Amino acid sequence: MPRMTTSEPNVPPGFVEAYRLRLSASSRLVVGLNVGAIVLLAPAIALFIWPAAARGFLARDLVFTLTLTLADGLALIAGTVGVVVAHEAVHGLVMTFFGARPRYGIKWELMAAYATAPGHLFARDSFIAVALAPLALLTPLLWILVWMVPSGGLWMALALAGILNTVGAVGDLYMTWQALKHPASALVLDEEDGMRVYVGEAAGGRHQASETLPREAGSFDGPDT
Ligand SMILES: [Zn+2]
Repeated sequence: MPRMTTSEPNVPPGFVEAYRLRLSASSRLVVGLNVGAIVLLAPAIALFIWPAAARGFLARDLVFTLTLTLADGLALIAGTVGVVVAHEAVHGLVMTFFGARPRYGIKWELMAAYATAPGHLFARDSFIAVALAPLALLTPLLWILVWMVPSGGLWMALALAGILNTVGAVGDLYMTWQALKHPASALVLDEEDGMRVYVGEAAGGRHQASETLPREAGSFDGPDT
């Protein structure tokens, strides 16, 4: 009900928690993800500068015209805010597709917006579809739009949105990677600042998890590092 902030999932009998990620409890992981975002920044910029360069916008809009009009500035702000909303909305739409009821918010201590589905257990691959949808849908869409729009502030706003959407998917990529370490029969809970994975004991959950982890020992995986 609305009052509950931590709705516990209805874990089916025979399933045990195999993995828990809580970003707000691991500053090391947050630093790691920020490093990942910086690493993603170079290819993301290259991807979106490419159509602008190919169309001759770079020299015209960024080199010769260093002054942005008020409309350009507003477009850039709208692009920044709009892409955060669109990114979370795509997560939420895919959650709805899988029968969950999404809830949205901002985790200020992580400076991140989120979409979550309290108490909803996703099949592993559904969770991965939810996690990757904004990167898979919005980044190509914005990239195509940069090929289509006229020169000026609009392409810059779209390119900025595309770069932010791509870089902002670093946590989604990390959670996908974590989900893939568990069998396809695993169930995943999407939380405000992390995730939980449940695996069937009969399926040898714990063994499975450690089996896929030999080179991971001592990395971010602990729930309370
Ligand atoms: Zn995301």
